[in-house]
Amino acid sequence: MHDTVPPSADPLTPCMFCGQPAHVEIHEVWDHEWMFETCCEGLHEQLALEMAEDPEWARRFLRALDLEVLCGCKLRRVTDDGACGLILDWSLEIGEIDRASAKQFIARHHAHCRVPVTWRFHTGIYNGRTLLGVAVVGNPVAPALNGRGILEVNRLCIRRDTAAALRWNAASMLYGWCAREAARQGWREIITYTRADEPGTSLRAAGWKTECRVRGRGWHSARRARSNTNSWIDKVRWARDLVPTAQAGRTPLPARSDDRSIPRGELSDLSTAWWKG
Ligand SMILES: [Zn+2]
Repeated sequence: MHDTVPPSADPLTPCMFCGQPAHVEIHEVWDHEWMFETCCEGLHEQLALEMAEDPEWARRFLRALDLEVLCGCKLRRVTDDGACGLILDWSLEIGEIDRASAKQFIARHHAHCRVPVTWRFHTGIYNGRTLLGVAVVGNPVAPALNGRGILEVNRLCIRRDTAAALRWNAASMLYGWCAREAARQGWREIITYTRADEPGTSLRAAGWKTECRVRGRGWHSARRARSNTNSWIDKVRWARDLVPTAQAGRTPLPARSDDRSIPRGELSDLSTAWWKG
């Protein structure tokens, strides 16, 4: 283990390579890459080598150089991007994104679903300045689940064209935020669907539980365009019960159960009646 600043970069000691007062500073930062300046090439090479060998030390070293102050973000890790070397992996943050941009993002990055037409609320998640993902929450698409105090994460979309390390935990954080926001608004349950061939790791990590398997509808269904290839794949429904957390100074919305009540057990039989694209 190194100290935070290696002796070779301590300004009070002469550089072991050039003999001048050792000098190192951050020169430029792009979203996930950085350049640093040193008194000489020898020190530059040495530091680059040490960072590559020990990314955790690199993180502490860059923090000591005030990288976080410079960028206004907290550094989660310095990590290998799997191709070109070390990258800056910032702490993920939930952040606002306007509706039009959310739509654009989903259209561009969602693997197998089209963009929803309307929804209740949405959010984005950022790694530094990089928008990594979007979640969109609306009414349940299954008509029988409507009016029962339930919301649905209609889309959760994480882009795949960045280094995998940057999106670590992003989906879980989005699912967690959606549940908290729904609870804050007074809803009693939130659900979502994954394809049966997806593991649902992020949902499990965010505390969601599987409710049932829902059969995809077949080709024979009328009014359903054949291009909608996602509609006939089996789904798994996930859910989280919510405890409404009314904000101070805000009247809590009544628990929403304004229509017929279907016994819980019957919900799993809704299977083929619906499925959206
Ligand atoms: Zn030097």
